[in-house]
Amino acid sequence: MRPGSRYLDRSRYLDRNAMRLGDMLRWNMRLYFNCDKCCHTAKTDVGALGDKFGYDRSVPEVTARARCSKCGSAEVRAIVKGDRE
Ligand SMILES: [Zn+2]
Repeated sequence: MRPGSRYLDRSRYLDRNAMRLGDMLRWNMRLYFNCDKCCHTAKTDVGALGDKFGYDRSVPEVTARARCSKCGSAEVRAIVKGDRE
């Protein structure tokens, strides 16, 4: 794969917070959930989420089903990070 081609590929997502799980896995993106209530931040296993919800699910769809593992709140926000961030 040419250097930079991954960047071009990623750029079709104007908002990377709307990426699909399968694309995140392919590009080694990481997904965190941050709780609005207790500020707990948890790193997720993108592969496990893909197995559970489907790899064509987008981050907002999965976030809508997420709960904070600490306080149980549904008010969680997704944070998407690249492999070098
Ligand atoms: Zn919480």
